[in-house]
Amino acid sequence: MITKPKGTYDILGKDAVINGYYNDICESYAKLYNFNYVRTPIFESSDLYHRSVGETSDIVTKETYDFKDRSERNMTLRPEGTAGVVRCLIENKLYGNRNDAIKLYYNGTMYRYERPQAGRNREFTQFGIEMFNSNDPLSDAEVISIGYNILQELGIESLVVNINSLGDKESRQNYTKALVDYLTPRINELCEDCQKRLKTNPLRILDCKYDQNNEILKNVPKMTDYLNEESQKRFKEVLNNLDVLEVDYVVNPNIVRGLDYYDHTVFEFILEDKGITLGAGGRYNSLVKELGGPEIPAVGFAFGNERIINELKEHSVFSELPEDYQGNVDVYIMSVSDEEKLNALKISQNLRLNGISCEINSNNLSMKSQFKIADKLNAKQLIILNSEDLQKGLINIKDNATKEEQKIDEDEVVEYLVGIL
Ligand code: AMP
Repeated sequence: MITKPKGTYDILGKDAVINGYYNDICESYAKLYNFNYVRTPIFESSDLYHRSVGETSDIVTKETYDFKDRSERNMTLRPEGTAGVVRCLIENKLYGNRNDAIKLYYNGTMYRYERPQAGRNREFTQFGIEMFNSNDPLSDAEVISIGYNILQELGIESLVVNINSLGDKESRQNYTKALVDYLTPRINELCEDCQKRLKTNPLRILDCKYDQNNEILKNVPKMTDYLNEESQKRFKEVLNNLDVLEVDYVVNPNIVRGLDYYDHTVFEFILEDKGITLGAGGRYNSLVKELGGPEIPAVGFAFGNERIINELKEHSVFSELPEDYQGNVDVYIMSVSDEEKLNALKISQNLRLNGISCEINSNNLSMKSQFKIADKLNAKQLIILNSEDLQKGLINIKDNATKEEQKIDEDEVVEYLVGIL
């Protein structure tokens, strides 16, 4: 038997229903906020991720799925969505002649060669928002609030936005120096990766998965103490805007994000009671230029869809759904003889084209089996065909809850069902 690759999973049954519900809500919110859908390739030239996510990031050094195509080009399965969207913005010159914000969203699979564990897979999906061409602190708040409001709408409880500011380049340099001064005498007590990061990218040390609970990291200098005046002012405005939007947040100086391209605002959507991060993002004003475009500010975030879907499993809306959910229909049409089956086919088309969902006997099933399946599908009405009625142009319809039966003229079946469903 061929099995699925390690770190991947199938989405089916109850999970598939929740997945659909979740995607619909994300999309409806994207539209409410005027974000437009964009789809970029699942693989891109490897250079894109080296230059954006960062040569020294964990993602690029250890986690990318790299391959050479048949013409020996270096390709990478996308580990995240932002780099591809920025490449697309530049390549399609979406910014041409625009002074308003460019608002895009995506929803797709990402690939990281990680050690699979709860909430961490090798193939996973992200819904993400990117807002370009605005450096207004309003935009940071708008982007954070769409994520926050989606999670509220989904009924995710104990959600708190953890927010921090990395400041501008000057503030970051000052902070990095203070961090290196603090860590240098203590570095041998941190993991090997952190020892390397001290030279290549010290800020990343704060994001280390391995040393997360190490006291040394808990007592590092606070980034917010090193923000210059302008960066401080900007951060305050973002927080004021979040207050106006009634977003529940805490300032958490340890949020730095594992990707290279962030400046100013960085944030994570965190489930406080479980310590799970459902999504994360921030401002990345230098990335568009870095990838060969003009200087265009940007802010965005990505949700880890599977982590959110996992939380929704406990949601009351879904508690009744069986794990092996196989569908729901308005009507089940029962038939046994060839004549009845032909009529069932005809009626099913008529119902479906009029917006009534239905199922038919597609496997020579006995009446007993068909009753069972109709119940499993939660069919509200049963059409029980028999040749005697059919000859008179009548259709026998049974209410599956009250068990009452009616004989309806075949031309009036749709109208009758629309009226009672
Ligand atoms: P990142 O792109 O690393 O900022 O991650 C954004 C969100 O994607 C995280 O908060 C997680 O919810 C989710 N995520 C990241 N990596 C994985 C993974 N390997 N498996 C499942 N979800 C992930």
